[in-house]
Amino acid sequence: MGINLHELIQKPGSSLPFRRELSAERLDFPAVTEYDAPPVGEGVIVNNAGALTLRGTIRAGMRCVCDRCAREFHADAEIPLETALATELEDEENPDFFLLSGEDLDIDDLLETAFILNMDTQMLCREDCKGLCPQCGADLNDGPCGCKKESDPRLAVLGQLLDDIDQTF
Ligand SMILES: [Zn+2]
Ligand SMILES: [Zn+2]
Repeated sequence: MGINLHELIQKPGSSLPFRRELSAERLDFPAVTEYDAPPVGEGVIVNNAGALTLRGTIRAGMRCVCDRCAREFHADAEIPLETALATELEDEENPDFFLLSGEDLDIDDLLETAFILNMDTQMLCREDCKGLCPQCGADLNDGPCGCKKESDPRLAVLGQLLDDIDQTF
């Protein structure tokens, strides 16, 4: 959806509040099982001496699957927004702003992009999640599993490969 910024652009010092629900269907990540409700982006667009800036927050509550231990957990995301808006690409070397289409802002595109960039990180049930034992698959958050300590999971893969080769010959 587009927001027309004609009046805001005409009046330096003015501002325009916004509140948009994002489409949960368009924010489909493998690590997210379910959103509590559609994520909401809200804030204000200000015209400061002719320079347009959008400030606000996207809030989302969701059920996620931990990248390390595969446990389900609940996460609340609060993504700060601060984006300069430009009516034309003034400086191609510095595309650090969101381009308007004429005087229309595609706010859904802006909010979705900000959300997707923020989700581009590992989803962990907690920062120090110990993950699963590469040998027996036990959840190491529940305590040590009793397997011999594996120095490097990559070596375990190599060992498995060597075993396979032995079986082939
Ligand atoms: Zn975890
Ligand atoms: Zn183990």
